[in-house]
Amino acid sequence: MDNFHLEERIRRRLIFFPLPLQGHITPILHLASILHSKGFSITILHLKLNPPNPAHHPHFTFRLLDDDAFSEEAFNADLVSFLAILNDKCAEPLKQALAELVADAATACLISDAIFHFTTGVCESLRLPRVVLRTGGVCSFLAFAAFPLLLQKGYLPLQDDRLEEAVIELPPLRIKDLPVINTPHQDKLYELVQQMVQQTKASSGLIWNSFQELEETSIEKLHQDFQIPIFPIGPFHKHNVNNINAPPSSSSDHSSISWLDKQTPKSVIYVSFGSIATIDEAEFLEVAWGLANTKHPFLWVVRPGLARGAEWLEILPGGFLDGLNGRGHIVKWAPQVEVLAHPSVGVFWTHCGWNSTLESICEGVPMMCTPCFTDQRVNARYVGHVWKVGEHLEKELSRERIERAVGRLMEGREGEEIRERALFYKEVANVCVRPGGSSYDSLSKLVKYLSFT
Ligand code: UDP
Repeated sequence: MDNFHLEERIRRRLIFFPLPLQGHITPILHLASILHSKGFSITILHLKLNPPNPAHHPHFTFRLLDDDAFSEEAFNADLVSFLAILNDKCAEPLKQALAELVADAATACLISDAIFHFTTGVCESLRLPRVVLRTGGVCSFLAFAAFPLLLQKGYLPLQDDRLEEAVIELPPLRIKDLPVINTPHQDKLYELVQQMVQQTKASSGLIWNSFQELEETSIEKLHQDFQIPIFPIGPFHKHNVNNINAPPSSSSDHSSISWLDKQTPKSVIYVSFGSIATIDEAEFLEVAWGLANTKHPFLWVVRPGLARGAEWLEILPGGFLDGLNGRGHIVKWAPQVEVLAHPSVGVFWTHCGWNSTLESICEGVPMMCTPCFTDQRVNARYVGHVWKVGEHLEKELSRERIERAVGRLMEGREGEEIRERALFYKEVANVCVRPGGSSYDSLSKLVKYLSFT
């Protein structure tokens, strides 16, 4: 980078406003770290809920918005209402904070999570450019963008007797792969999705934590439908930036790594359903017994509340773990990126959140997919049928099905092709962020773009 441009950029400030959910905070902070390494100054505006830890980012400026009036209401709501409340109530506090920042000529733009669609109005009122980060994959975003068509053609709302039908307009999705969530507020969901898509279209640019080689067809389609600059620069956490993988929370349990150190290569099933998804008690017990019956060692992340109605592990049969003689290790939260990179891990049983999916692809770990809601369903379909780096557990969870799927993925000849393809994508993911790679080049374009926005 020549000095002139470096100095120009040092004077440019990028403002970030993360959605306060783990799967959104981590990638937006990664993006901020990447752009900081390119010479931009960074300000993070945030809420009280799930605040980022400034100690992990000593070079950023953090500023808390005044969210007292609605944080409790939002916190106690279901996911769709939570997102609707934030979009409704954050406008005023954000505007106040931004008004001071735009007075500084160095402020270049706001980088907003796509779900925060209300930021369009705030930025327009302050004449501040708004660039969007979509933290999910392009494949699922195209399905969200098709909601008006899906509603018009009767694919949505979902009907139980049509779930296996193909959505011919969105191959290879079937109706059951559409990115919806089981909520009494379907209309609120449709409205939220429609706003997210429209306000993304109206933005000054769109950044993706994805890469060209993984989502080529989807990115091409996106270019046809969205006439704005598009920057696929992922996987973010693979960029060569100091401390990019600083722990997202202090609650990571490093016993995971010392336990993995004692296992044999590629023998362990790592199980995590992310930061929000829940399962019911019967499913939780099938997971437990399915894992126990495989005879493989397993590392299982059980967040408090993962099993609906339970505090933590009290619904497991007494002595469950002791009976396994050290073959099972359960933690509340694991350093996932480190875990997936550990040589002992052979399979990742995941809910297919986009970050988990990408992190697994980056380490060449085959996936067993149990999607729960929204984009996870699309991601799981792509993992199983497009990228072919895993198996989608489609039917009801049962210990027998779990045992068979693990066998296929970890030992069976059927799993061989999947394991090889997982290693192929690992290589591609690692190469694309190096000089000459697709994401590296796209990042250079983004830096130039933000330098003159
Ligand atoms: N994660 C983690 N430790 C855990 C579980 C999850 O570090 O024990 C991280 C994971 O690496 C990923 C994020 O939490 O970056 C979850 O995001 P994802 O998009 O996969 O799912 P979500 O939580 O949004 O459903």
